[in-house]
Amino acid sequence: MNYFPVFFDLTGQKVLVVGGGDVALRKISLLERTSALITVVAPDVAPELLARAASGKLTLAIREFIPADLDGVRLAIVATSRRAVNRWVANLSESRNIPVNVVDDPEASRFIVPAIIDRDPVLVAVSTGGTSPVLARRLRERLEALIPRRIGELALWLKALRSASRRKLRGTEERRRFFEAIVDGPAAQRFALGDAQGARRIAQQLLATTSTAPRAAGDVTLVGAGPGDPELLTLKALRALQDADVILHDRLVAPEVLDLARRDAARICVGKAAGTAGTTQEEINALLVKLANQGKRVVRLKGGDPFVFGRGGEELQALAKAQINFSVVPGITAALGAAAYAGIPLTHRDFAHSVSFVAGHAQGHDEAPGPEPDWRALAMPGATAVFYMGLARLDHIVEKLLHHGAPATRPAGIIAQATTPNQRVITATLATIIDASSKANVESPALLVVGDVVALHSTLAWFGASAAVDLSRTA
Ligand code: SAH
Repeated sequence: MNYFPVFFDLTGQKVLVVGGGDVALRKISLLERTSALITVVAPDVAPELLARAASGKLTLAIREFIPADLDGVRLAIVATSRRAVNRWVANLSESRNIPVNVVDDPEASRFIVPAIIDRDPVLVAVSTGGTSPVLARRLRERLEALIPRRIGELALWLKALRSASRRKLRGTEERRRFFEAIVDGPAAQRFALGDAQGARRIAQQLLATTSTAPRAAGDVTLVGAGPGDPELLTLKALRALQDADVILHDRLVAPEVLDLARRDAARICVGKAAGTAGTTQEEINALLVKLANQGKRVVRLKGGDPFVFGRGGEELQALAKAQINFSVVPGITAALGAAAYAGIPLTHRDFAHSVSFVAGHAQGHDEAPGPEPDWRALAMPGATAVFYMGLARLDHIVEKLLHHGAPATRPAGIIAQATTPNQRVITATLATIIDASSKANVESPALLVVGDVVALHSTLAWFGASAAVDLSRTA
């Protein structure tokens, strides 16, 4: 991040604008929304500026810029049509530690001016780091549509509510919940509709009930984080992440997903790398119970879907036993994410009539290998089988499938780091997949897909590098 985002209080501060044309005028109009003391220096000025100076809104110096103009200046904006002058003023400002912006010249600027959505006192600023004003404007337009018209008034009302809430509510936690109930609930809705009276009534009720109620009980939301691409999160998952006090996550969860969580939420990694002990399941269960009993809103975040090879069920059993409230937000399981992003329709009706998700059990997991799957069913024609945690036992899986009647020519594929920019797809057949896999040196996490539908990858691949390279041809 080259630019540090700040909002600068210019009340009573001297701001210098060098230049008096249209470009300068636009910046001056923006400055006039603040209570800055604006001085404009330019040999020629637009007539509109003369009018504004006459009304006392700004001071006009109709002449060339001189270095003394920078005396006592807090912020400088340079917008003449002469590049050499602009750069000279910028250098002088820079040498005097005065933040300077040269319009349309980010290189000469110490700060840049973002595109804004002004719903005073709510201000949304968008910057592309000086790369593309057009992109910033487009983004701003989209945000405009998203942000309620009356949000500024709502903000002022929330500010007014602050002192009342401080008198009535004990802890910061309670106050945060009170304000969330206002902002997310009917109070803010009434307010947006223009019914300030109704909104105030709801707030009074909330304040009364929140302050007398015993400390709210904590709860746990079991959330599926999807296979990697953060845009595959559900809206509910995003909301749970935004509301969480604490997040317990697996190692599999992508950092980009964690970035979407509430900034103050505590994050605890309880994942285990293959071959290490990590936190045991019992410890995780106990931690969930403990945090919820402290009144925390806990999110238990798991890769993919929490009920698919995620041991989410066991955690819920522990919570049920401890009488803790919980809910579940499903996620896109790795098989579905990988199949979609690799262009492998799992049940394309010309090739398959069923799909099975099978645990392959890699070495190093703390669980003992479960009972063997029904190999005969998985080897049948028209069956698609997706093996999770199967890479370490690839030899075993291939041998079992062949032994139970699957033809050696049956297509098989490995999809590693599916849905991420590092996704790799290796396609081969049951006869060649072991060889192809060791040659390709795949990195975990990875899935093995076996079935005729895998062959469709060569025509339906669309995502990332796998769309361009088909390794089956070289394997
Ligand atoms: N609950 C998870 C699965 C956990 S088991 C889900 O629903 O997806 C962990 C296994 O999932 C890994 O060993 C791997 O086989 C698979 N997996 C998870 N994320 C993956 C990804 N992005 N690409 C390929 N396989 C993945």
